[in-house]
Amino acid sequence: MPESDHAADGDGAPGKNTPRIVIIGSGMSGILMGCSLLKAGIRSFTILEKASTLGGTWRENTYPGIACDVPSHNYSYTFEPNADWSARNAGGAEIQSYFEQTADKYGVREHIRFDTEVIRSEWSEGAWRIETNDGETRVADILVSAAGVLHHPQYPDIPGRESFAGKLFHTARWDHSVEMKGKRVGIIGTGSTSSQIIPALIDSVERFSVFQRTAQWIHPLHNKRYSDQTKRMFRRFPSLMRALYNWYSFRQEEFFSKAVVGGKIRLALLDRGCRRNLAQVKDPVLRRKLTPDYAPGCKRLIFSDTFYDAIQKPNADLVTDAIDHIEPRGVVTRDGCLHELDVLILSTGFKADRFMRPMEMVGEGGITLSQAWGKGPRAYRSIGVPGMPNFFMLIGPHSPIGNLSLITIAEKQADYIMKCIDIIRRRKVAMAPTEQAVAALLADMKEAAKQTVWSSGCQSWYLDKDGVPGIYPWASGRFFREMKPGPNLGDFELKALPPGSPLRDASGTPTIAPESTEAFGVGKRALESH
Ligand code: NAP
Repeated sequence: MPESDHAADGDGAPGKNTPRIVIIGSGMSGILMGCSLLKAGIRSFTILEKASTLGGTWRENTYPGIACDVPSHNYSYTFEPNADWSARNAGGAEIQSYFEQTADKYGVREHIRFDTEVIRSEWSEGAWRIETNDGETRVADILVSAAGVLHHPQYPDIPGRESFAGKLFHTARWDHSVEMKGKRVGIIGTGSTSSQIIPALIDSVERFSVFQRTAQWIHPLHNKRYSDQTKRMFRRFPSLMRALYNWYSFRQEEFFSKAVVGGKIRLALLDRGCRRNLAQVKDPVLRRKLTPDYAPGCKRLIFSDTFYDAIQKPNADLVTDAIDHIEPRGVVTRDGCLHELDVLILSTGFKADRFMRPMEMVGEGGITLSQAWGKGPRAYRSIGVPGMPNFFMLIGPHSPIGNLSLITIAEKQADYIMKCIDIIRRRKVAMAPTEQAVAALLADMKEAAKQTVWSSGCQSWYLDKDGVPGIYPWASGRFFREMKPGPNLGDFELKALPPGSPLRDASGTPTIAPESTEAFGVGKRALESH
């Protein structure tokens, strides 16, 4: 099996005190990590991407009506404002091309190896050995997962699914060869994805059967297109885009983020906004069917200006009877009714606990990720895993997510990871969070999660298999403040890298100052043994 000595092609040969870095995934956070490394003058990195193009979520999701319900001037990198956003909430294709352009502009694309899937990574002799589907093994001093959260489709376990005679596909695997015009279309699921697809297709299909298991709260979106004049203003005065970014960040923090983690007045305002929106549904029977029996924000809040209009159209059929099974002609509900369909769309979400898996990871002492995450994903401040040295994640477990800009979150994580990389370079160490630090943080988080609206009695992908919210249980502002100073070394175990590591100096001496090892516990012992 060939083993390439250096993670990146070209730059940063071993011995230059340049870390060899591998990033998994070239979506929003992988591109961001690449930009952060280049900005720091580090070119010795490779991004391994399993697909043939970059873009992650925005590459994989191409369903009709796809857009981002977070305002585009906020769903942008802070270093790359975009005066050309066509609307307050731009569509998916536009967002995809923004990522493509950013990757090209900052020189990230040349670091991407496409069609290269990571199968297994093992920490051995102070470096990661990364096996990919092309049969190669790459060696890296630092491994960063930017694999994303919502990328493994969740297929519903409904009897007879395979027997359907028409076209059936998941929203993240949209079959563009299927003509929808004049067809009897069904969609299972009523989450954020479905609420964008239904308005986009309702006018072209003959009948749209919407299978709703649980009603959802929908807040108005207030989307609008930007005129050419406005775009010119953005170009001329970039500070306007910065001001918009800050305004949307402030609004998300003050209104949405604080509402869902215990802010009762804010939650009441959210409730009022959603109920007012729902009031546009004229038929009381339909309105009752669309009214959730839990608090807004318990599931991820949907933002839409068009869903209620679409679901009131004469060819829309909201089906609330539970699905019994699928048969060749369509979906049969528990009341015995057969809903005949030509096309069945599964808008049933994602396996949110997968992260970079099915890739297997073997860390220090042979511990595997499957063992470490046997009871569910757990991480130190969303970025690190005990026993996995010099391994970092973007949008890892317990990240603040929900109705926030994931780019903002990922930027804070990338800054933190860059500070870790700096420590690794300067001190020539391997660092991993301690089990004690993770256990203490998770205990606090579990306690705080009880106060959040996510624990108030609904089913959602925010909950782990014990029904406890796995996402950051405080307002995002607190996360930003915690991440800003960078790593608290008391929470990490640091070990000197072995001789031969390109991060060691020419004499092979680790450069951790003796006094700085005091706080590192095992790290100090490890240093002494070298
Ligand atoms: P989702 O929110 O997880 O919704 C899945 C839907 O499928 C729910 O309505 C669920 O019903 C239903 N469902 C699942 N299994 C079912 C079964 N066996 N029988 C009947 N119904 C079933 O998935 P999503 O809409 O794809 O959204 C996932 C996430 O993607 C969002 O929460 C959001 O984070 C992200 N997203 C973001 C945007 C954006 O604009 N920023 C747009 C789209 C998606 P229950 O509610 O009863 O479980």
